Formats: sequence, C-alpha cells, structure tokens
Amino acid sequence: MAHLRKPLAVALGLNTAVLAVETLGTFEANSLSLATDAIHNLSDETGLAFLLLAYTLRTGLSSHFLRTANVFNSLGLLLISGLVVWQAAERLFHPQLVLGVVPIIAGLLAAAGNWGVAKSLREPSKEDVAIRLAYVHNLGDVLVSLAPVAAGLATLVAGTPLFDSVIAIGIAVFIIATTLKAVLGSEEALLWPENVDCGHHEEPVKRA
Ligand SMILES: [Zn+2]
Repeated sequence: MAHLRKPLAVALGLNTAVLAVETLGTFEANSLSLATDAIHNLSDETGLAFLLLAYTLRTGLSSHFLRTANVFNSLGLLLISGLVVWQAAERLFHPQLVLGVVPIIAGLLAAAGNWGVAKSLREPSKEDVAIRLAYVHNLGDVLVSLAPVAAGLATLVAGTPLFDSVIAIGIAVFIIATTLKAVLGSEEALLWPENVDCGHHEEPVKRA
C-alpha cells in the first residue's frame, strides 16, 4: 500500500505544477483554450488527490464517499465545460484580444508535466486498476495539452483570436464526451474499486 503513495504524490505534485502554469497563462494571455485545459486539470487534481487519500488511509475512505466525490467532480467538470462552450461561442461574435505565444509555452510545459504524471504512474499502474485508468488518462492528456499550443500557433499565424475560441470549444466538447462516457459507462466502477487493493496480497484468514 505504502509503495503506491510516493508515485501518486509525485503525480499530484506534477499535476499541481501543470495547473499553476496553465492558470497563470490563462490570465496572462486571455486564452480560453488554455482555460479549458486548466479546468480539466483541476478536475484531474481532485481525482489524483482522492486516489492518494484512498491509499494513505489504511482503513480507507468509504467507497460510497469516493464514488460520490467522483460524481460531483464529473458534474462540476460538465458544468464548467458547458460554460466554456458558451463563453467561446460568444467570443466568436465579439472577439477579444488573445496572446498567441503564452498558450504555446504554457501548453508545451503542460504537455511535459502531464507526460511526467503518466510516467510516475506507469509502474504502480501495473498492480492497480484505478491507477492504471489514471495512467491511461494522463497519456491522453499529453495530447490534450497540445491543443492550446495549436491554438496559440494559429492565433500567431492567422493574426486572429478566433482559433482560440474554436479550439476551446473543441477541447470542451471532448471533455464533455469523455466525462459522460465515464459517468454513464462501467468505467466508474473501475475507477473507485470496492477494495483499494495492492498487488501484495495478504494471507487469507482461514476460517473453520
Ligand atoms: Zn485529464
């Protein structure tokens, strides 16, 4: 159990760094595409924090509590993603000035950070299904973090902030689709298994 804690703490630390860079970049650049990925990473932060907590408390958080937290996290993510789509759509009609260079730098740093998160979860993912899901998720996040980079490049090359809004809508729709799939599908049960289990099985107690 304890040996899973360290890689989870490293993953959480790296994800916090990604979140900080993207949040700073969002305000610095007035970029919605960066904001969307920052919101997504805030949700991941909550998920990783709960995973770490689940493996830290030996008697554990109740699976009911974890499931409820997960559902609220998903609902929050859906709500904020919906707001982003609305904001971005409004910006299509009333464009705002967006800096292109900041999303490029912040997105590249975030992609590197997410790669680090995935890397630190790789070993423990072999023995735990909840960590394996987080690992696979964060591998995908490396690519998602590159979307603001594309938005920044397009903003610079085309000289219009419209791409930032279009890509923000793209990321938000992707997040809504994957979140709905996780909430409605069977993945949720896997994400918070009944017994937080590590590979080192204890001897079963023999009963007469
Ligand atoms: Zn994520």
